[in-house]
Amino acid sequence: MSGAGASAETGAAACAVAPVPAERGQREVFCGLTGIVWLHRKIQDAFFLVVGSRTCAHLLQSAAGVMIFAEPRFATAILGERDLAGLADANEELDRIVGRLLERRPEIRLLFLVGSCPSEVIKLDLARAAQRLGRVHAPRVRVLSYSGSGIETTFTQGEDACLAALVPEMPASAEPGLLVVGALAEIVEDQMRRLLDRIGVGPVAFLPPRRAGELPAIGPNTRFLLAQPFLSDTTMALERRGARRIAAPFPLGAEGTTLWLRSAGAAWGIPAAAVDAAVAPDRARAQAALAAKSTELADKSIFFFPDSQLEVPLARFLARELGMKPLEVGTPYLHRGLMAEELALLPAGVTPVESQDVEAGLDRARALRPDLTVCGLGLANPLEAEGFATKWSIELLFSPIQGYEQAADLAELFRRPLARRRRLAA
Ligand code: SF4
Repeated sequence: MSGAGASAETGAAACAVAPVPAERGQREVFCGLTGIVWLHRKIQDAFFLVVGSRTCAHLLQSAAGVMIFAEPRFATAILGERDLAGLADANEELDRIVGRLLERRPEIRLLFLVGSCPSEVIKLDLARAAQRLGRVHAPRVRVLSYSGSGIETTFTQGEDACLAALVPEMPASAEPGLLVVGALAEIVEDQMRRLLDRIGVGPVAFLPPRRAGELPAIGPNTRFLLAQPFLSDTTMALERRGARRIAAPFPLGAEGTTLWLRSAGAAWGIPAAAVDAAVAPDRARAQAALAAKSTELADKSIFFFPDSQLEVPLARFLARELGMKPLEVGTPYLHRGLMAEELALLPAGVTPVESQDVEAGLDRARALRPDLTVCGLGLANPLEAEGFATKWSIELLFSPIQGYEQAADLAELFRRPLARRRRLAA
C-alpha cells in the first residue's frame, strides 16, 4: 500500500466493507471520569475537580489506585443532600471550594470542572459555573468544564470531552503545521516528534499540551492527525476551527505506525518511499521485536468485549502483525469516518459489533471459548473464574503503546495473560 493510499484508497475501500451489526442492551463500561487518571499526568499544571457524589470519588480513587501523590491533581467536590435540594446552594458551595483550592494550590493554571451523573441529574450548569469562576480567577487560572458522566458514555469519551473543551481556547494562526491529537505518554510524544522531524513534517504540536500555557495555535492551514481513535467530538471541534484531518490508521504496531507516518508525509507532499527510508531502522527494530513475541501469539484466538474504542485498531494489529485470530471485535461505538482506514485493514471475515449487548456477548464468548478475552474490569473477574484468560482494556490507556519502540510492549500486554493462564493450567 502506498503512503497516500493509507489515507485515500483504504478509506474508499472501507466504504465497501460489510455492514457492522449494531446491538442494543446492557453494557459494562466505566464512565468518562476514568480519563482523569491519565489526563492529569499529561497536563502538568491542570487540576480536575469532579462535581459529583461519593460514588464518583470512589471510582476515581480506585481507578487511580496504585498512584500515590503528595499533591494529587484531581479531587471530587461532593454534592451533599443540601446541594441536591437547591442549585443556589450548590453553586455557592462550588465557588467556595474552588476559591479554597486555588488559594492552596498556586501552581494550578487550568481548572476543569468535570460533570458527573449527579451534577447532570440536578442540572447544575457547569459551563456557566466555569465562566463565572473564570472571571473571578482570571488571568491566573483558566476554568473550563466538560462532562465525564456515565450516562450513555464510555470511559475514553472523557478524554474526548476534555480535549474538545480545550479547542475553543486554542489561539488562532494561519501558519501551516501538524497537530497530533490524543493524550500520549511523554516518551511516545518525544519519539513521534523525532520521527516526524526526520521525515520533514512540521512544525509539530501536540494536543493536549504538557502545560496549560502551551496550547498550540490552530487555523485553516493546520492539518491534524489523531493518535487515539475515540476523539470524534474533538475532531468536530478542530474542524470547526478550520483544521483538516489527515485520514490514517492509528499508530499501533510497526505497520500502523508506518501507515500513520506515511499519511502525515503524504499531507506534506513527501512520498511514501522517502518516509520509509527515513524510518527504516526504527521499523526494522519494531518488526524484529514483534517477531520474537509472535511465536507465542500466532494462531491464538481473541475476543473483544466493547470497552475502550481501541478494539478495531488492536484487532488489526494483533491479526496482521502477530497472526492472532479475532473471533469477535466488540466496540461501544464505531465512527465509520475515523475508522475507515482501520476497517479496510481488518482481515476478511472479521467484522466489528457495535454497542454490544453484554449478555449476548457473554453467551457468544462462552460458545467460542477464545484463548484470550479483552474486556473491562467488571467482566474480567467473572470470566477468569470461568477459566478465560483476560486482558483489562483499561491498561491499554495507562500504558505507552503507540509507535515503533512500544510495538513489542503492546504485544507483551497480550502475551502475559496467556502465559499466566498456561502456568495456572500446568
Ligand atoms: Fe458513577 Fe456517574 Fe459518578 Fe461515573 S459519573 S462514578 S457513572 S455516578
